[in-house]
Amino acid sequence: MSLLEADDPPAYRVERSDGKSPFFLTCDHASARVPTKLGSLGVSAEDLGRHIALDIGAAGVAVKLATALDALAILSGYSRLVIDCNRQPGTPESIVRISEATRIPGNETVTVEEAAAREQEIFQPYHDRIRTELDKRRAQQRHTVLISVHSFTPSFHGNSRPWHAGVLYNRDARLATELLQRLRAEATLVIGDNEPYSVGDTTDYTIPVHAEKRGLLHVGIELRQDLVATAAGQSEWAERLARALVSIADSGDSWCKFDSATN
Ligand SMILES: [Zn+2]
Repeated sequence: MSLLEADDPPAYRVERSDGKSPFFLTCDHASARVPTKLGSLGVSAEDLGRHIALDIGAAGVAVKLATALDALAILSGYSRLVIDCNRQPGTPESIVRISEATRIPGNETVTVEEAAAREQEIFQPYHDRIRTELDKRRAQQRHTVLISVHSFTPSFHGNSRPWHAGVLYNRDARLATELLQRLRAEATLVIGDNEPYSVGDTTDYTIPVHAEKRGLLHVGIELRQDLVATAAGQSEWAERLARALVSIADSGDSWCKFDSATN
């Protein structure tokens, strides 16, 4: 059974494939697109524009950051409501029936075959491309630092969130610590330390699988969606992040310290 049709876009897109930088960007929730065959999943157009469908502004920041850093970026091509590219397939969080408080009718009766098609045609190609690029860089002995770009809602279950952005990690806080310090140097910013989310084996896929298992330096970045909803906001945050990351890369001592034998 096949899911994607000729007029559907590819499962992912690559920006700056010849980027020379050690930085390597991923954007798991870049798009609200739903394959033609699945209609709208029974979800209203308004809901397909919300965070439940995509990380608003994250793709724009990832592309601008790729340009600023001369870094390769890989962005998912479909909505997290079709299949979440940052969750282990087969788990209830992979294809959700309810997101926050919104029913996703098109996900309520997904057969094993239909779930497998979403995994094979959307999830797998995206992660295969990330894996292929990382393998290639390892073969070339290129230094690689994975940056995973996301965005979050200003309020959650009625509580407003104080952070402008968050720096996320799990077992390896090396890069996160450096980035946190640099972003917090801007006194007007409230930067979360593993807030509003942290990285975990069951709540994430990209960082645990592609970065932690390879011993790559990495960080997850969460941006508050209202700050990156416009092109101007995306540019502002891409420039801010690029400045901070370049400053880390240029600070010889810490950069050397980052060199890991396993990557
Ligand atoms: Zn996300």
